Amino acid sequence: MRRIALTGGIGSGKSTVADLLARRGAIVIDADQIAREVVAVGTPGLTAVINRFGRDLLAADGSLDRPALARLVFADRAALADLNAIVHPLVGARSAELMARVPDGGVAVYDVPLLVENGTVSGWDEVVVVQAPMALRLSRLRGRGLPEDEARNRMARQAGDEQRRQAATILVDNDGTLEELAARVDAAWPQISGETPTSA
Ligand code: ATP
Repeated sequence: MRRIALTGGIGSGKSTVADLLARRGAIVIDADQIAREVVAVGTPGLTAVINRFGRDLLAADGSLDRPALARLVFADRAALADLNAIVHPLVGARSAELMARVPDGGVAVYDVPLLVENGTVSGWDEVVVVQAPMALRLSRLRGRGLPEDEARNRMARQAGDEQRRQAATILVDNDGTLEELAARVDAAWPQISGETPTSA
């Protein structure tokens, strides 16, 4: 089984690349989705978060009030460290479980926005980093309804492009059309999947 990490800054096109890889047969494991699942209603993860941060962080329906939690940890580094200490091991365990289910010969792609930030850059067969110029990222995010100041705020809290580039074994530039992106993913597929490129 191939173990591939996929990362990129917000608005780089990482999810689009994940979809393209899934179409090529990769099994995509979404770290953000797992991070939501491990603190869903009724989970030990949610209990741990509420024990640490209080019931004020529960929404009316008993689920975690994510915007309130985000505000809290944004303003308090110790709170963020505590939250990470609860959530990261749960995400790690669940993603390892999902990875273990990928059949022999399969390609597992771990889609993880904060790979570099969380210090998990080693132990992969390949680290795919999607990159795009800042202006393009901002305009794509605007197209998705995210105001520019909020997008810039989130970027400021992520690792910089250079830091991500240093972690990459495969760089995918997303500075053109979706068709160009798909062609670049196709070109990278032999290395990602570990196939020897074949001549036609
Ligand atoms: P986030 O970190 O916010 O999840 P992301 O890096 O996963 O972002 P995507 O969701 O893949 O980025 O892309 C952001 C937006 O830009 C989406 O609406 C996507 O359809 C669009 N997009 C991505 N690549 C291109 C491209 N080459 N041409 C036009 N639109 C694109």
